[in-house]
Amino acid sequence: MKIAVLGAGVVGTTTAYFLAEAGHDVTVLDRRPGPGLETSFANGAQISACHAKPWAGPHTPLQAAKWMFEPDAPLLFRPWRWDPALWSWGLKFLRNCTTERARINMDRTLRVALYSRDVLKALRQRTNLQYDQVTSGILHIYRSREAFAEGRETATDLAALGLPQDVLTPEDCAKLEPALAHAARTDLVGGLLSPDDESGDAHTFTVEVAKLAAARGVKFRYGVTVKGLEANRTSITRIVTDQGDETPDAVVLSLGSYSPAIARSVGLKLPVYPAKGYSISVEITNPDAAPTISITDESKFMVFSRLGNRMRVAGTAELAGWDMGLNPVRIAPLKRNAMSLFPTAAAYGNLNAWTGLRPTTPDSVPILGTTRYDNLLLNTGHGTLGWTMACGSARVITDLIAGRVPEIDLEGLGLERFA
Ligand SMILES: Cc1cc2nc3c(=O)[nH]c(=O)nc-3n(C[C@H](O)[C@H](O)[C@H](O)COP(=O)(O)OP(=O)(O)OC[C@H]3O[C@@H](n4cnc5c(N)ncnc54)[C@H](O)[C@@H]3O)c2cc1C
Repeated sequence: MKIAVLGAGVVGTTTAYFLAEAGHDVTVLDRRPGPGLETSFANGAQISACHAKPWAGPHTPLQAAKWMFEPDAPLLFRPWRWDPALWSWGLKFLRNCTTERARINMDRTLRVALYSRDVLKALRQRTNLQYDQVTSGILHIYRSREAFAEGRETATDLAALGLPQDVLTPEDCAKLEPALAHAARTDLVGGLLSPDDESGDAHTFTVEVAKLAAARGVKFRYGVTVKGLEANRTSITRIVTDQGDETPDAVVLSLGSYSPAIARSVGLKLPVYPAKGYSISVEITNPDAAPTISITDESKFMVFSRLGNRMRVAGTAELAGWDMGLNPVRIAPLKRNAMSLFPTAAAYGNLNAWTGLRPTTPDSVPILGTTRYDNLLLNTGHGTLGWTMACGSARVITDLIAGRVPEIDLEGLGLERFA
């Protein structure tokens, strides 16, 4: 079958690879000059099923309201901005801020994330992919007893859903990650280890998967902007681009935060809104003082990952539209916290700052599956966990196109849940 995948981020590229492996004739369209150059470029570098807890929870509205006037808050939401897309998304988000919805949404996300981790491991085994991966787990550190208690509560829920975590003392944290020794003595109250989670460079991963895909015959048309889709009552008939049209048999939409604009051209409303985040990457000058295991600092809402001789620090979320400007006020806390935890690890004076737009749904669950058009599939809205869920999502799409029942239950993952 002739299939067009729209978007060469980590989600689209991985989908193209799995479709080519299944024998399809695949073309990927992307406006950038290469794969993974937008949100998949310099993210937190974690394969973190352990982060399946959705943003929308019973305490989120109060917490977000407290942060509203703090320009460097971990989550910044300013509802008075003139932005009907944000208000509509925000109302759906509020409806998900209950204990019951949070549990359902965590279950759905975890279903995809755990499956995806297994699919990634199998892919790595059969292709020998290399992307600075570290497979020793993710360590979550806590600085307050209250947050640690909440973390242990979530860990109990995650364990019941198939993701066990180990509870650690500060001394255990320092033993596992010697670079944390000072913080463990002065600041930490405990940690949780997700032993089966991983880390690595999502951009390198995307580039390497694109090479594997190209070797299987996938055509990558870079520098091509998709303008819209055309459809008759039942099917997509044409993809309109700035460089000629495409008329494939099937289309997979994976345009990250830009998916809603293109879906709208055929009357589909996708509740995907960009949550802007930042990262800094620094060269490690003192390897013994830099972390080896990937760390999530739960009290600061930040992650640290070791990528060879670099350290990546990522975090913060701002619901402020599609603006891609680098705001120094939002970047400063990343540098500050890295310098406080690992003061002598890196050349902090010479950092690469980056921003990306997480394609976020109101319930933190991706939009995966079929549409009312028989040849249009959605693989988008992966929010904070796009790399974590990319391989599993790609397999689901490949199974759906083959007419096979996917290996995970798709209940609650499709667009119909927002109807
Ligand atoms: C600070 C930060 C930290 C993160 N940390 C993690 C993490 O640790 N682990 C994790 O799993 N996830 C993480 N994420 C989320 C993850 O990076 C995203 O979910 C993921 O990159 C989304 O991939 P995507 O392929 O859907 O979108 P993208 O990577 O944005 O790809 C979409 C592609 O579509 C193309 N495109 C868009 N519009 C058009 C158009 N009209 N025509 C042609 N091409 C178009 C773009 O050029 C782009 O290449 C993080 C995100 C941020 C911002």
